[in-house]
Amino acid sequence: MKKLLIAVLCVSGCTYTVNLDETELIDLSHPLEQGIPVYPGGKDFKLTRLTAEDAGYYANSFEMGEHTGTHIDAPVHFFKGRTSVDQISPWKLVTKCYVIKVDHEVKTHDYQIGATYIERWETQIGRIEPGSVVLFYTGWQARWREKDKYLNKGEDGQLHFPGLSKEAAELLRARKVAGVGIDTLSVDPGNSKDFAVHKLLHEAGIYHVENLNNLDRLPSKGALIIVSPLPIRGGSGAPCRVFAAVPRGTR
Ligand SMILES: [Zn+2]
Repeated sequence: MKKLLIAVLCVSGCTYTVNLDETELIDLSHPLEQGIPVYPGGKDFKLTRLTAEDAGYYANSFEMGEHTGTHIDAPVHFFKGRTSVDQISPWKLVTKCYVIKVDHEVKTHDYQIGATYIERWETQIGRIEPGSVVLFYTGWQARWREKDKYLNKGEDGQLHFPGLSKEAAELLRARKVAGVGIDTLSVDPGNSKDFAVHKLLHEAGIYHVENLNNLDRLPSKGALIIVSPLPIRGGSGAPCRVFAAVPRGTR
């Protein structure tokens, strides 16, 4: 097979070359289907067949919220007048990504990823570059097909799943990242009442990708992320298909 090369210019100005013959493409999205977990107040996914059995072709319509399934949050989600999903620059959606694996650290369901943990990770892997996307693998993705376990609503009526601490959000702001992703329903921990992480990141123009999958299959660095949301005009977010291009042998 002929080798294909794609050169991508990152936000930070670096040139990124993807050799497709030596690249693995990993799908980081969950399939959209009836019964998937949805954040309280969101809208369930529903597929309805449009065409009759004998129509000669097949098509459906669907209903869902902007924040259903693997999806992106745009800064306008929390700040009126800020960037909506259709306005997010493609250069921020296709860029280098880092993966910080904290699954072995998640000892309680209310675990918060600390800034010091990220700083320690940086001493081993390298400083997070501006314009990149930082993904957090908590291990929660394994619960996706068990809706109740994924939402993990306690007797206190609150959700309980891991997320970022405010200090971690402040550190990522300081690093000037383009986006932050996680394999749970929210970048804030499930029991958050003030959505402080959402606010800190969106205020700085940073987007989030939530309900990611397959983050355990990515290397700590060296992958290219491709986030592809529906360009809903003025949308607060949108479902998206997300891929990682991983050079073979870097896992
Ligand atoms: Zn969201």
